[in-house]
Amino acid sequence: MAKVLCVLYADPVDGYPTSYARDDLPKLDHYPGGQTLPTPRAIDFKPGALLGSVSGELGLRKFLEAGGHKLVVTADKDGPNCRFERELPDTDIVISQPFWPAYLTRQRIAKAPRLKLAITAGIGSDHVDLQAAMERGITVAEVTYSNSISVAEHAVMMILALVRNYIPSYQWVIKGGWNIADCVARAYDLEGMHVGTVAAGRIGSAILRRLAPFDVKLHYTDRHRLSPALEKELHLTWHPTVRDMLPVCDVVTINCPLHPETEHLFNEALIRTMKRGAYLVDTARGKICDAEAVARALKSGQLAGYAGDVWFPQPAPQDHPWRHMPHHGMTPHVSGTTLSAQARYAAGTREILECWFDRRPIREEYLIVDGGKLAGAGAHSYSPGDATGGSAQAARFKQAR
Ligand code: NDP
Repeated sequence: MAKVLCVLYADPVDGYPTSYARDDLPKLDHYPGGQTLPTPRAIDFKPGALLGSVSGELGLRKFLEAGGHKLVVTADKDGPNCRFERELPDTDIVISQPFWPAYLTRQRIAKAPRLKLAITAGIGSDHVDLQAAMERGITVAEVTYSNSISVAEHAVMMILALVRNYIPSYQWVIKGGWNIADCVARAYDLEGMHVGTVAAGRIGSAILRRLAPFDVKLHYTDRHRLSPALEKELHLTWHPTVRDMLPVCDVVTINCPLHPETEHLFNEALIRTMKRGAYLVDTARGKICDAEAVARALKSGQLAGYAGDVWFPQPAPQDHPWRHMPHHGMTPHVSGTTLSAQARYAAGTREILECWFDRRPIREEYLIVDGGKLAGAGAHSYSPGDATGGSAQAARFKQAR
């Protein structure tokens, strides 16, 4: 019997939904490139239901309890006396979502002697101290591709929202105005602009593909180059480093994982190399950017706009500079947790659990750490080390309420 500790975000303030805006989800056969969607033996939820909040339980309770396992679900994840920390000492498996990350630091791992498996229900396992997980022999797995397209759609939306000054224009309507000049004094067309992505993995390349019909000039930088056929099809310009790419771009979108190589990559010095008035969109991880440097660049006009859904820490304290800086289009971390994405990563989480309990191998593409080293997708995209430093600050959100 295993104890499974699952950290999920809180239910809606007006209660767990009893009905939904739509009756079904489109049926997808496979992801771009052919990877199959999750293949658990069964699911105990209706796709389209809210699964990522506490009452949704990722649809796992029936399955786990039928197998004799114990499921504990909580949203209380920050601070030394939170439920997450109190439950850790006899926990075998932790499940967490990046939107409401249960930071699994070295100190917390030390409090969990039985912990053997940490599952990210979604993509991006930087909330786990991967170095400590490697040293302790903990397997870390995530549901690769489950929400990559969800994020790509969100990033394209945010690029358009910033360039066209959508959010302030919407606010004029809410305020009862008809202030056309106020709305358009910062509005431009995306057409003809140079747009670059930092990383062209699953999300980055999906963004490039989606932006191509806007008649923009597309750029990318990545450690591995895309195929010549794709570069030709999308008219892509590859740059060997971020520093080579930034000076030519009007819009930059960040799509690499957070790991020691990318932590605070976008600092004051790097932002200074961007075109004055560039737009920066980060839907990858907040800590890839230096928060204060971004806020200063917006105030000085070096950046014309910044948008994203990822912060550090999460939840962001009330005094986080990104809540109050000018010309931003920030949301809480939502892009990868649409109801559509939840159905996929809940099924993927179940697939990983089924494999674990049956002692069958977890798909290579889901693995981040295994056997004491980076493995599978993790070996391709991450570097060893820890990116959880400072995560204890997440407790300040709770204290302020
Ligand atoms: P992929 O693994 O498909 O792509 C990541 C890409 O980043 C790879 O091509 C990798 O290069 C590249 N990369 C890694 N390090 C660097 C670096 N130092 N410089 C340039 N490129 C680098 O992952 P996805 O596209 O699916 O997801 C990317 C990230 O997006 C996730 O790790 C996660 O942090 C974030 N994400 C955010 C979500 C949200 O809800 N906002 C949801 C899902 C993901 P290579 O492999 O060629 O070495």
